[in-house]
Amino acid sequence: MAKFIRVALPVPLWRSYDYQLADDLSVTTGCRVIVPFGSRELVGFVLQADCTPDYDVSKIKPIKRVLESSCIWPESMWKLLLWASGYYHHPLGDVLAHAAPVALRKGEAADYQSVRRYIRTAQGEQIDLQQLKRAPQQQRLLAALSRDSLTPAQLRQQEYSAAALKALQDKGWVETEVVKPDPEPWQFNAGDEALRLNPQQAVAVAALHQYLQQTQSAGKVWLLEGVTGSGKTEVYLQAMQQVLERGQQVLVMVPEIGLTPQTVARFEQRFKVPIVALHSGLTDSERLQGWLQARDGQAAIIIGTRSAIFTPCKSLGMIILDEEHDSSFKQQDGFRYNARDLAVKRAYDEKLPLVLGTATPSLESLANVEAGRYQHLQLTDRAGEAQHAKHKIIDLKQQRMKHGLSEELLARMNQHLEKGNQVLLFLNRRGFASALICHECGWVSDCHRCQKPFTVHQQKNLLQCHHCGAQQRIPRQCGDCGSTQLITQGVGTEQLETVLQQELPDYPVLRIDRDSTRKKGQLAAHLTAAASGEYPILIGTQMLAKGHHFPDVTLVALLDVDGALYSSDFRASERLGQLYTQVAGRAGRASKPGTVVLQTHHPEHPLIQELVNNGYHDFARSALAERQQALLPPYASMALIRAEAMVEQDALLLLQAIGQHLQGVSEVVVIGPMPAPLARRAGRFRFQLLLHAEQRKFLHAWLQRQLPQLEKLPEARKARWSLDIDPQDF
Ligand code: ADP
Ligand code: ZN
Ligand code: ZN
Repeated sequence: MAKFIRVALPVPLWRSYDYQLADDLSVTTGCRVIVPFGSRELVGFVLQADCTPDYDVSKIKPIKRVLESSCIWPESMWKLLLWASGYYHHPLGDVLAHAAPVALRKGEAADYQSVRRYIRTAQGEQIDLQQLKRAPQQQRLLAALSRDSLTPAQLRQQEYSAAALKALQDKGWVETEVVKPDPEPWQFNAGDEALRLNPQQAVAVAALHQYLQQTQSAGKVWLLEGVTGSGKTEVYLQAMQQVLERGQQVLVMVPEIGLTPQTVARFEQRFKVPIVALHSGLTDSERLQGWLQARDGQAAIIIGTRSAIFTPCKSLGMIILDEEHDSSFKQQDGFRYNARDLAVKRAYDEKLPLVLGTATPSLESLANVEAGRYQHLQLTDRAGEAQHAKHKIIDLKQQRMKHGLSEELLARMNQHLEKGNQVLLFLNRRGFASALICHECGWVSDCHRCQKPFTVHQQKNLLQCHHCGAQQRIPRQCGDCGSTQLITQGVGTEQLETVLQQELPDYPVLRIDRDSTRKKGQLAAHLTAAASGEYPILIGTQMLAKGHHFPDVTLVALLDVDGALYSSDFRASERLGQLYTQVAGRAGRASKPGTVVLQTHHPEHPLIQELVNNGYHDFARSALAERQQALLPPYASMALIRAEAMVEQDALLLLQAIGQHLQGVSEVVVIGPMPAPLARRAGRFRFQLLLHAEQRKFLHAWLQRQLPQLEKLPEARKARWSLDIDPQDF
């Protein structure tokens, strides 16, 4: 009797596939198999080790190969992935593929890399070293090998001669051996001494320790709300110590930009235990090694960004998620998950403590505190000597401007620079200028594929579309009237850098944005240079607002935030509040009092007044009350269906058809179709449909019923569409 198995494949379809299993093969749920798919071969995951196909079995193809005998994930992770596929309504095959390291997605063995080592042969072990008196290089090498084997890297490092190695090999005294490293258990060892906690830190650490000492019966989440510089990291470290001491692992999640060598160094200094950092600079194979070390319990601390939430851990004892408000925890394409929300789910499933740390909590997390689901811990004082920053609004309405800088700001900068302090200017617009326009006729150089102005990059002499990446040389003449009177509009960081070099020639400027940090290692090098005080003036985009410490910065200025005050995105004010507070946190560390300056045309705007006068804490609470009144998340549930097509009608018709399908349930409101905020991108027309429900369960039950139908709509053949659960930016 033939046996059949059910497999999930990394294809964007809501179905699984059946294959035949040869008699001499066996599989279990969650192991990988290689199967034929059309003309290709794919790596899939077994969902059912024994199934009964409901169609003609003579058409079912046999699988090619079984890659392992058991599930690559522990059971708890497997369950989390199944749950995530259901919650995000995303095809399981794609979820599983996304969660696995790339090397495993490609079908490589889930195994440690073998290493080559040089050892003595049986004959070599008998040799009296005196025999090699006249070949000192060979003597030295053989002596070393009698103590321990050597890897090729060690051989080079310790400067043994390659010729001597060859001579010993030729004599048959030395050979190579290929071995897999032994999984080594680790032991807890403390490094640098812990700091003396201030009273607020002590309360936070005590709360976490108390939980750890209980026999754990349930997962628990803490929101650690601590102003910048209040010493949240010290709280993490002291809480982690108890977990590590009893041999359990800690998973530390940081935002994309936060995972720098400095971050890892802070953990390395405190704990002498194996640390695995899962960052974008790793090769596929290095990443797999890290993943295996976590899964098999050989890594004590695992630090990573968003996707690290899928790292299996043999004996996880705590999860820490730093900068929990940061939008980089949300995956914005493909499998659109939120790593923070999955961390909460994982903590409850695995009965773990989870610490969400931030100076500017997301409104979602605050609502969870208010509802009693999370426990709140607060650090309102800066650790050590540092003082809170002073705030100052510059009303741009009466000011003469020099390329985005008011004269008042320039004067203030001078005061700080003359005292030998650093100044940080924050402008969230990279490039030289946001548009190139004709001074005679008003023509704007647009990307015709996106119908948005090109950004001017003067150093590279290019116009670049920041939406689709299209680029071209900067024209000398107007595309309409032929005039050569072309001017730029909207100051970007590149222009600001040039202007400051002219205005304040004595003070070197360092610009940190995506353009200046494109090459590997450049960001880390720039951040080190910025912190070293070598550059009195720092210019940065949003990248610079996150968690980095610049001890000599005493003046921080936000040059242009007015766009966020009148945005159609209901999250824009929350984001501005977080940005302002985070940027302000860069100033006045290490006992030098700092000043934060905000340039705006709307000093009277209630949002700005609330932020400047009362701070993020109060601001967030009134923003939360507004959300509750308007029935917006977190007091309602949303999902977004996006569609795009080369022909405008195709995208629109698809969403109209979907909208019709989704009619008739009073608990869910369908809004749209309406043009997406970026209505055209790379030549495609884009529309969206917003689904809104006061209760999550109605929205999800309904999606689950309807989604299989949507795939079959005839309109779906002409347009691409995607679903985003709990969408963030739209
Ligand atoms: P946060 O992450 O909350 O912004 P950090 O953890 O980076 O703050 O701490 C800011 C600075 O204060 C660091 O230099 C840290 O070493 C120092 N610090 C933290 N806790 C203490 C303490 N209890 N006593 C003295 N210095 C501290
Ligand atoms: Zn013109
Ligand atoms: Zn474009």
